[in-house]
Amino acid sequence: MPNEKRVRKSLEEILIPGAMRSPVQLNLVREIIISDQKVNINLASAALNPGIQDWLKSQISGNISQLPGVSQINVNFVESTPKEINEVSHVIAVMSGKGGVGKSLVAALLSIALARQRKEAGILDADITGPSIPKIFGLGNVRPSSSETGILPVLSKLGISIMSINLLLEHEDDAVVWRGPIISKVIQQFWEDVLWGKLDYLIVDLPPGTADAPLTVMQTLPVSGVVIVFSPQELAAMVVKKAVRMADQMKIPILGVVENMSYLTLPGSGEKLELFGKSRGQEMARAAGAPLLAQIPVDPELARLCDQGKIERYSSEILDNLNQNFIKALSLKAKQD
Ligand code: ADP
Repeated sequence: MPNEKRVRKSLEEILIPGAMRSPVQLNLVREIIISDQKVNINLASAALNPGIQDWLKSQISGNISQLPGVSQINVNFVESTPKEINEVSHVIAVMSGKGGVGKSLVAALLSIALARQRKEAGILDADITGPSIPKIFGLGNVRPSSSETGILPVLSKLGISIMSINLLLEHEDDAVVWRGPIISKVIQQFWEDVLWGKLDYLIVDLPPGTADAPLTVMQTLPVSGVVIVFSPQELAAMVVKKAVRMADQMKIPILGVVENMSYLTLPGSGEKLELFGKSRGQEMARAAGAPLLAQIPVDPELARLCDQGKIERYSSEILDNLNQNFIKALSLKAKQD
């Protein structure tokens, strides 16, 4: 007689088109009932359009009927919404005092760190008026699949689930000119109507600044930690303090700070040139009461990979350190919880 473990394993091998994750990873498997040689599987229908449901049914029937001892297989869809199905363990928000300091880049690098640690990670691009996540992952032309109940995120090459307004616009570079309340609604929908399934970490790329926009996002989503990104040229001290105050008010811990565009390594001599002013990484870490996760240099290779949509190919000692420090900060927080 087939057992549930084998059935589940068989379901794990099926990757749903578009999302490229299995029904198990997407948390769609509601019930597996085995009696005699009959296997009954109840799946949540959330965000799956009729075409995908039919495809899934036939794939599952095909795979499960190969298992020894199975004579009959039934696949049923139970009506449900992504909100009922999603199980996201941790939501980490990435914020910055202003645009253009590399907030999205850092959000991308943090999710890559998690994916390389074999964690199920996603990015919710909440920077609605300046969405750059799909571009740096090379997903500019990808369109997510959707149904009446929701949308499937798209998967990056490393396996990061991504949702961004850019993926839904007809033209990648269409401008979004919506007002605040509509933007908040979109972000809420990205949380509730996107089938994230089971995720260990969802990284949220917040709108820049410390005004209403990022605040609303933090109130809308169950954020469990914040990473603050800054560059040496801005009024870093003031910005970091504002961000710290905001996180404190919301009782959300700061996991760490990242200084971007910290310096440039001169070719030849290897000398570090602090081209945007003196590094204030340690000072900012003290102000935030959180570790300095990385000081990222201005790196032409990084800029090139972002432009080409190949950020996942980036590797450097600095990235390795960022990864280690971030994982350390997460496990420290987990101990405190
Ligand atoms: P933000 O989200 O803060 O507006 P982004 O992360 O979108 O900023 O960064 C803007 C662009 O600046 C990136 O696409 C990348 O090309 C470039 N960039 C950011 N940080 C670096 C860096 N350390 N080295 C080289 N280029 C960088």
